[in-house]
Amino acid sequence: MTIKDIATPIRTKQILEKYQFHMKKSLGQNFLIDTNILRNIVESANITEQSGAIEIGPGIGALTEQLAKRVKKVIAFEIDQRLLPVLADTLSPYPNVEIIHSDVLKAELQQVINDKFDDGQDLMVVANLPYYVTTPILMKLLEEKLPIRGIVVMIQSEVADRIAAKPGSKEYGSLSIAAQYYAVAEKVMTVPATVFVPQPKVDSAVLRLTIRKEPAVAVKDEEYFFKVFHASFANRRKTILNNLVHNLGPKERKSEIEAALEEADIDSRRRGETLSIEEFAKLSDSLLKFLDV
Ligand code: SAM
Repeated sequence: MTIKDIATPIRTKQILEKYQFHMKKSLGQNFLIDTNILRNIVESANITEQSGAIEIGPGIGALTEQLAKRVKKVIAFEIDQRLLPVLADTLSPYPNVEIIHSDVLKAELQQVINDKFDDGQDLMVVANLPYYVTTPILMKLLEEKLPIRGIVVMIQSEVADRIAAKPGSKEYGSLSIAAQYYAVAEKVMTVPATVFVPQPKVDSAVLRLTIRKEPAVAVKDEEYFFKVFHASFANRRKTILNNLVHNLGPKERKSEIEAALEEADIDSRRRGETLSIEEFAKLSDSLLKFLDV
């Protein structure tokens, strides 16, 4: 007997009816009902039979199933307890899938990877993310410096644009720098709302993040570097000098900020959105020097 894909409008409807499952907007539950889109997502991850996949929010298993057919093992984190019996049923043909009932933001991801995957195994995070927590999830995956090759996720199109933005564009901001510090970001494709039930009100896109072997720039103090570029974008209409004077902290006085900008060869009248990641790195190191910390 051939197994029918979960991600078709008919099969999804049957599963939802069988379990009397009602989707919760508050959990970002928009399920994919298009197998072509799912194949595109999986292909963007460049996985092999030896790979491991980590999924966030399997829902009723639409993407999980496509991953299970192609990789050695899938570990999926699902917060909604009501989905556990559904997944046990829909994914019963795939013994290489394990569901962890947990909020991914609270999960010990490094520990799960150590326990569930082989040492040095090729690992990808692949997910149709709940949109209400896209940024915290992506930042957790990046900041924890997990041993993963990359991340392929369906997210809001507008957030994908911000993450992949280049200096000088209106989308470029602290999220672009934070993500591009750890990874190379590419918007792979935009996706119409019609491939989901229920249809989200925003446009969606598939984003690929390929983790860098080393961060994009070397800085003396990573935490301070993050503080500097966040402060630089606090008010987009203000110059870099004004933003730093008002948002960096009590220690950093105007004279020191001016000296650091000069040393980093950055005109104090420029706006944060025109600075490259390399310029922010130089600026953060210069500020540390002038503060003598
Ligand atoms: N993967 C399925 C698909 O593509 O059809 C469902 C994707 S749906 C956009 C997001 C899923 O993430 C839902 O199943 C939701 O219950 C789950 N979810 C929401 N917040 C979560 C969290 N903090 N941790 C883990 N799962 C979460």
